[in-house]
Amino acid sequence: MSESDAPSGKPQSYTRKTLGDSEDKPKAPEIYKCCNNPQITYLAPVNINIDERTIGSVDVWRCAACMKSFCEEKTLGIDSISDIVGMPRIEDNEKWAVIISKLQKGKDKWKLVKLKETGIIKFETSDEKLIDLKIQDHKIVDDFHSSFLVLDHIHTAVEI
Ligand SMILES: [Zn+2]
Repeated sequence: MSESDAPSGKPQSYTRKTLGDSEDKPKAPEIYKCCNNPQITYLAPVNINIDERTIGSVDVWRCAACMKSFCEEKTLGIDSISDIVGMPRIEDNEKWAVIISKLQKGKDKWKLVKLKETGIIKFETSDEKLIDLKIQDHKIVDDFHSSFLVLDHIHTAVEI
């Protein structure tokens, strides 16, 4: 038996850890960028009306470099100051849409969402129940819910 047979996984407890290589250093969250050179500017609002009265709106922002759009839901009376850093992420196969519930009233009647072309979206009702809604061609297909695409209604008011 020679010494070279000794197990190689010998504990290295005396090895000094390289400074600056600490793994418990807090890492800043990754900021979402739509492209390499984002130039995001405010585009327009889409107003949400009930009986010709505006109850809320969706603010639409667009990146001049990659033309991706970003939407933000606004309920009347609640101010939200937009920050470009906080633009919500949207995938290439998703579109901004508003889901309208026939079962709810007032501000609970609508919700900004991102719809894939087909599939199922989990939708939270105002009484915090999760329901499955079917998507077909970027539209909700359901007896009690409908939807429209935000970018088809720039600068207009949509009666819900
Ligand atoms: Zn961009």
